[in-house]
Formats: sequence, structure tokens, C-alpha cells
Amino acid sequence: MKVINYAINGSEVRINVVETEEDLPEFRHFVINNRRALGFDTETDGLSWWEDGFRIRLAQFGNAHESYVLPTERGGLFQEDAIKAVGWIEKLAMQNGTYDILCMDRVWGVPAESVFPRLVDSRITAHLVDSRGRKDGGVGHSLEELTRHYVSATVADEVKASMTVIAKELGIKKADIWPVIPLEHEGFNLYAGMDPILAFRLVKLLKPQIPTTARKLVRYEHELAAACAYMVRRGIKADVPYIEDRAAELASTEHHYKDIAAKLGLENINSPRQVGAAVISRGVIPTETTPTGQPKVDDHLLKAHIDDPLCEAIYRGKKAAKAKATWFDNALANRDGAHRLHADIRSMGARTARMSISGAIPAQTFPSGDSLVRRGFIADPGMVICAVDYKAQELRVLAALSGDKAMKKAFREEADLHQITADAAEVDRKTGKMTNFLTVYGGGPAALMSQAGVTREVAERAIKGFFKVFPGVEQYSEDLQREARRKGYITTNTGRRLYVDKRRPYAALNYAVQSASRDVTGRAILRLLEAGYGQFMLLPVHDEVIFQFPEEHALNATTKAAQIMKEVMQGVLIDTDVSVYGKSWGCGYTADGQVCDLCNIIHKEAA
Ligand SMILES: [Zn+2]
Repeated sequence: MKVINYAINGSEVRINVVETEEDLPEFRHFVINNRRALGFDTETDGLSWWEDGFRIRLAQFGNAHESYVLPTERGGLFQEDAIKAVGWIEKLAMQNGTYDILCMDRVWGVPAESVFPRLVDSRITAHLVDSRGRKDGGVGHSLEELTRHYVSATVADEVKASMTVIAKELGIKKADIWPVIPLEHEGFNLYAGMDPILAFRLVKLLKPQIPTTARKLVRYEHELAAACAYMVRRGIKADVPYIEDRAAELASTEHHYKDIAAKLGLENINSPRQVGAAVISRGVIPTETTPTGQPKVDDHLLKAHIDDPLCEAIYRGKKAAKAKATWFDNALANRDGAHRLHADIRSMGARTARMSISGAIPAQTFPSGDSLVRRGFIADPGMVICAVDYKAQELRVLAALSGDKAMKKAFREEADLHQITADAAEVDRKTGKMTNFLTVYGGGPAALMSQAGVTREVAERAIKGFFKVFPGVEQYSEDLQREARRKGYITTNTGRRLYVDKRRPYAALNYAVQSASRDVTGRAILRLLEAGYGQFMLLPVHDEVIFQFPEEHALNATTKAAQIMKEVMQGVLIDTDVSVYGKSWGCGYTADGQVCDLCNIIHKEAA
């Protein structure tokens, strides 16, 4: 056993690094004596846990003062003991436990279902204490940020920054260090051994700081994290030939426009300096500069001069390259051995706790209403992709939360809410619709002007019209702002505390509605799981859940799922829509009258 002594705020901590099998009995005693609760973490050889040959290099267990580091990569008893210990411990304190749980499920065959009920996640706990990231004026939620704020800045500097120092010492980039750093490297052992100690301490420190109103969310958030992890683990099948074709097509588009640019004298469309000089020589004058002082040639400027062949070539060439990299190359590089793609779902994403999806399936970047990217995701054999989404979820939630009589009545009678706003403001329905959605987002006349393409006068009239016809919303917004100014935060309908920037009290309405809407979807996901729909859920996207169901039962099953997802909030039905797409996710997004190349049918009749 190698012992590393370290100190946190002057009090000693001890890291025991297991070196031989003879060291294991002492580790077992430690686990048995601390089985009520321990911090836990793993060090892996990368982040792509779905890849064949992925390794869990170290597993670490610790309380507030002492930890054990096991070289699980060496297999045998080291791995067996780690697996047994994970099974024994009644509460596992982990930072972003979803990741380690998915790794253990895949590499060790420890079912995620057996670990999640015992997880106490420091990240989830911290988010319930203060949901803000650092850029929003909060503490942040990474282990380093939490350690710096709640435990010790010195420890954050020394331990969390130590891998950067080690990478330098080994002469490799930090991102490349994980698969190659020797298991017995003392700096690595210190780094690894501190993680469970810190997770353990953070959970202990943070739990009492969760506002009373939010205590009931602790269990819910852990269950939701688990539900999302099960979807991530399943993944979605990639249509590799389709994705390869699109990547090749985009590569040739990129080359085509690069050639045009070259003929017009621009050698490299990715060099800001060259691009700046080239467009200026054609009389297109950028008005802004980049942080490094170069003329700023962005999409906005290029689109405004799309009639200029060079501007068009730069714009389309770069756009093709970006689409290829973000969607298609990304999918090809990140698929597993069975050609499945596993998203990175952050169940508590933004400051309102809205979920975010990134990684192999960056669903939030997919062009809306377009099948190009979604067509690359296909159902398993015999299944079809289906979706249930909420109808105007945020507006319905706004009606429920504000209690506005006119808005509640409109939803009850299934009246045209957008036309109501349009009539009150004497604008067209499209502007009325945008006004409705914009108001939920806390947007003002300026935003409406640019989105709806209307004059300031029309925009102001539309927003005034909205508040005139739905006075309860204005009252609700004012109440929230008063609460925010008085306390510095608001409490959502589910009890979540959301801090509001003193300079932006008007954002309170958006936070309240967005967070409540996220919890509508969150509760629905848990009800679906409870009702046995877990095996069919693929992905939560905004106010929508994507499923795959056996083809012959698809409509029936999706309809039932939609029933489960509906709820009544303060007398307002938060209603859902059913869609049976087809063999791919893109089937729901094919153009009217277009024959689907995969299903050989027309999904949408021409209007
Ligand atoms: Zn289809």
C-alpha cells in the first residue's frame, strides 16, 4: 500500500493506493466500516464509454478524511473488489455520477439500475442549492468550481489543476493524458484519491443548504438523471451509409466553393485575415472587428452580401464544412461497435434546470423542421420512430401559473390564442403568434421587431395588446419581479429556487415558466418509466419525447404515451400531440408529397 498524505484546510487526509492483492483486505475493512455512505469516483481512459476496449483505470472510494485507490485496469481481484464494494455501499456520493455509472454498466456489467437508487450526486445537490453557472454569477457545478467555493481554493488549485501540470511534465496534451498516464503515478493517484473525498464532503456540506421548498426535488432529480441515463445507454441506431453519403456530399460542396473562392483570389476561407482583406477588396466593408482586431466577417455580413460571388462562396463553403463536422463526421466518429449513437444528456442543464443534449447527438443544433440530420437516426428492426410533444407547452404553463382568466379560457375552449393576441393588437396572426412566444421569453419590442420584421410601432402595439388582453400575465410578471427584487430569487411552482439578476428582474417570468415547463416534461418522463415505457424512450428534446415502438402497435402505444404525458396544472390541460414518424427520425420532417427513401411511402400528403 502506498500512502499519500495531504491536507485540506490544515486537517490531514490520507490516500491509500492499493498496489498488490495483499493490500485488498484493508480496503475491504474500510468499505465495511463505512458502508453507510462513501464518496466514489472512477478514472477512465477517455470519455467515450461506449467504445470497445474502453477501460476503467482506477476506482476510488473515500470518506471525508481517507480514500482508497484501486488499479481496476489490472482486472482480477482489483476489479472484483471494486465491483463488490460498489454493491455494498448504501449511499454513493458522486460528482456527475451518471458518467461513472454508465462506464460501470458498460465495462464491468454492473447494471445502472442497481446503482442509481443509491446515488447522491454532488452536482445535482449543488444545482438545487444554486442553479447558476459561473458566468451567471453563481458558483458553477464542476468539481473544481464546487471545491473552490465550498471546500478550499488551495485544494482546487493544487489537485484539480494538477493534471495540467502532469501533462506538461509528461510532454502531452491534457486531453490525451488519461489513457497513458501510469497507474502508479503519484500525482495521478493524488488527483484520483481526492475526488471521492471531495464528492463526499460536498454532498455533506451542500445538502443542508438546499432550500426547504426544494428538498422534495432531491429524489425527483436523481430519478430523472437515471431515466435520462437509461436513454443514453440505449442510444439510437445510426444509418451509416446515409451519414457517409451526406458527409461526402458536404465535402464536395465545400470543395466546390473553396475552388470558387480560390479563383476569386481567396486562398483560405478559414483565415479571418485573408477573408477580411478579400471581402474589403470587393467593397464589402465589415463594421465590426474580432477580439484580435481583425475585420469581423460573420454570417450576418456574408448573408447580407450573398449576391457577391465571393461572399456566397465563403458563406456556403464554411456552412457545408460546419454541417459536415457537427453532424455527420461527429456521428461517424462517435458511434459504438453496433453503430449506435449515445447522446450526452444533461438532465439539469441551464439555470432553469432545462435539459441539454450534446455529444454524439447534438439535437439542439439540428435545423428545425428539416429531415437532413434526423434522417440519419433510425429505428431498430421492426420498430418505428414516434414522438409525443406538448402543444404550446410554455404558453399553457404560463396560463396555469399566472391564472390569467382569458388565457385559461382560450385553452379550455381550444380557441386560437395567437389570433386573440393579433385581434387585440390589430396585427396579423403571425405577429400575434410571435408576440405570444416572445412574451414568455421575456422579450421586448426590439426582439419582436427583428423576429417578425415589423416596425417598432407595430411591435410596441403588439406587446401592449398582449398585456391588455391577458392582464393576469402582467400582474404575475410584476409579482415575480417584486419577489426577485426583494429576495434576489424566485421559487418556482415545484419549489425550485432560481436566483434572478438584480439588473434583469424581468427575466423572472421566463425562468418561472421555463423551469415549470421543464418539470412538466421531467415528471412525464418519470411517469412513462413507471408505466413501463422505459425500454421505448430514446431521447427527450425540449418539450418532446422521442420513442421507438413496434411497428404494428406504434399508433396505439404513442397515443397511450401521450395520455401519460398530459397533465392538468391549475385547471389548464397541458396537452400533447401524437406523431408516428417512420423508420427514421427524419420521417417526421420530410417535405409534403415527398416519397420517403427509407419507408417508400409519402409521410405527408401535399397540402
Ligand atoms: Zn420514412
